[in-house]
Formats: sequence, C-alpha cells, structure tokens
Amino acid sequence: MARQLTGLYSGPDDLLDHPERIRELQEKAGLNMVILGGGTHILFGLRARDPLHREAEADDTRLRQGIEKAHEMGLEVWLLFGGWQGQPAETFAGQEDRSIRDVQGRLLKDMPQVPFGMEYAQKMFCPSLEDYNSFHAEWYADVARRYAPDSINLTHARYSSPSLFFDMFGCACPRCAHRAEEMGYDFEKLAARARKGLEAIQKMDAATARGALADGDDFFGLFERLGVEGGLRDWFAFRAGVITGNFRQWSEAVRQASGGKVRLGSDTHVPGIALLVGHDYPAIARTLGYTQPLLPHIGWHLLCVPAAWASLFLQWTPGLTEAEALRLACQLIGWQAVGLSDTIADLHVTDVDGPKHCPFLYNLVALELERGFIPDSPVPSYPVLQAGIWPVETVRRLIRRAEEIGHQGLIFQGATALLETP
Ligand SMILES: [Zn+2]
Repeated sequence: MARQLTGLYSGPDDLLDHPERIRELQEKAGLNMVILGGGTHILFGLRARDPLHREAEADDTRLRQGIEKAHEMGLEVWLLFGGWQGQPAETFAGQEDRSIRDVQGRLLKDMPQVPFGMEYAQKMFCPSLEDYNSFHAEWYADVARRYAPDSINLTHARYSSPSLFFDMFGCACPRCAHRAEEMGYDFEKLAARARKGLEAIQKMDAATARGALADGDDFFGLFERLGVEGGLRDWFAFRAGVITGNFRQWSEAVRQASGGKVRLGSDTHVPGIALLVGHDYPAIARTLGYTQPLLPHIGWHLLCVPAAWASLFLQWTPGLTEAEALRLACQLIGWQAVGLSDTIADLHVTDVDGPKHCPFLYNLVALELERGFIPDSPVPSYPVLQAGIWPVETVRRLIRRAEEIGHQGLIFQGATALLETP
C-alpha cells in the first residue's frame, strides 16, 4: 500500500535553521509531517492551575515560527507532550502518595530494583490522579485552540516498562481501586489474584519453568500454570482500561476544543508487550486518532524486558541455566522465533537504540510490525523506526515490510538512512 504519512521527530530549530535538510527529506523520502516538542512555555496562562507547579517559559516565539514554517512547507505538524510515566524522581519529593503503589501496598520508591530495568530514572505517577488528568485535558484543549496543530501526540502515556517487573503489579492505590469498582471489577479479588501471581512467580521451581518452556506458555499461560485463576489477564485488562479511560477524557476535550480538527494520538508501546504497560491496541484504535507502534529503541524498550526477566528467574529459580531463563523470558512475550542470543550480556541491553550490528534486529522489528497491525482498525497505523543509527539496508527492508503489512505511514527518529542513495 502507498504510504500516506512520512513523519520525523524534529524541532523548530530544524525547520527554522536547516530548512534545506527538511526540503531534501520532502523530495527524497516523501516527508510530509514533523513532530515538534511542545515545551512547557505552552503552559503559559494555565500554570496557576498546574498541580505539578511546573516552571513555564512565557516565550513561545520559536515554536509559533516553527509551526508556521512547517505549514508553509506543506508539512503536517504534531506537537509532542507527556503522560503519567517518565517523570523525574525529584517530582515526587514531598508527594510520594502520588506515585504508583503495588498490590502489596509498596510505594514505587520501596519496590525492589531489577537488573536491566531501563526506566529507573523515569518514575510513574498514579494514572488515576484526578487533578492531574483533568488539568491535562484542559491543557491539551488549550493547545488545540491556540496552536491548531494537526495532532497532539503523546509519549510516555502508559505504565512503566515491564522490565521494572514489580511496577506491573501497580497501581493498586485507593484511587485506582475506586476506578476498578467503577469499571465493574471486584477490586479485592482482582488485587488478591495479582498478589498471588507476584508471590508464586518468585517461588517458581525449575521443573515448573521447564514445563512452561516445553509447553510454549506465554506470559498469561505461565501465571495460569502457577495457579493464578485467569492467568492475570483481568489484572492487565483493568490497567489498560484505566489508560484507555484517560485517553478518552483527553481525546474528548481536544475534539470539543477544536471542533474535531485536531487529532489526539499517542505512541503505542511495542505491540508484543503493550498490554503489560496498559496499551490495548484495539481499544486505543477506538479512542485515539491513530496507533503508533514505537520500535526505535531496541535496547531501552525491547531487549531490556527479556534481560530483566531472565535475571529475576535466575535469582528466583535455583537450577535454571541462563540460556533457559532467557529462552523462557523471550517465549513469554512471543519472541522465541526471533533468534536472540543465549546470554544476557550478548543482548547489549544498555545500548538504548540497540547494538549497531544486531543480528536479530530485522527479525525482531519485523515481527513487532506484524503484531502491531490491526486489519480492521478504524484509524491508521504509523509505526516508528530508527533511521539515524540502524544500518541503511535494514531500514530499507523494514520500510518495505511495513508497507507490505499495510501500515498507512511511518515515522522516523533520525533520518540519515533516508537520505542515502540506494
Ligand atoms: Zn493509583
């Protein structure tokens, strides 16, 4: 299918100071959209009501000029904003109660650290903070009215990476418990099952782990094997319901403010693990303006998960070998056919964008491109690829694969590979 949208993560400086490079991308790669960071100056005028009391710059001249320049060049403009995750740790000083709390009652700061957990510097607010959610609805509506971008684009609008294993068992604070009840769940039962799952996996013996490997268990199948009724599916459906509900609130505010002209969208996490961060692709496709499978950070978003889980299995399950632990972790998220290595060290997890010459890069990203496509989706799908660091040939193959699958557009982080002559 012909690509309808080709986007680039950019900024006003690129447009205003280097328009020739943007023009080259329009000619050679069909660029027709830029994502610009929405700085805190946009808070101007609303700052007094911001529950986080963020500093706000008053001057938005560069941003306004950048938006104008992009439109003049025939480009769509998306403005980028944040969600509940990805907050600096100091944001919580004196307000720890606003961070997530797990099913054992622990606040985020008291949860154990996990090796290869990649988001420790980025903390997570409880997604049910009413003042936070309603302020952001008001903020995004204001942005839609004052700047009239083609889309407001969110990032980190989710729970933390599943590599932070214990975070998956929150938020279970009283605010979230109340929301669960409103959504029709019996929260006591829901939390009790999640607690049971969390306890059971930390006592998993090698025979159980090997049984799961032999039978091809996925993530939920393993928890069922561990005796948890429903395998925690309802716990993760509840968490996704919280995030989708928040998206609905913000989307409605933006729609009303712009008369339906501004689309609210969000990057959507790596499809194979998206549900574990609260991103339910079909539900998001019914709520936001598009889905946006986020695949550029191989180390940070993808490989950290099997590395972290395998490290925990080695701690929890005596007798399991490193190769078995890693194989099980990969199998739980459906990556058994990708051909990852047998050792955690060989994954080079700490490299955010993944190793430059990663033997399984194509297989891994191509698989997630397939998993991120919803055939009967009411909205388009725009996966994000890394074109600044990955090998040019791999980028080209992935672009071809995304188009064959039927994704309606692609968004790039970095553009070097797009300008190389084939
Ligand atoms: Zn909560």
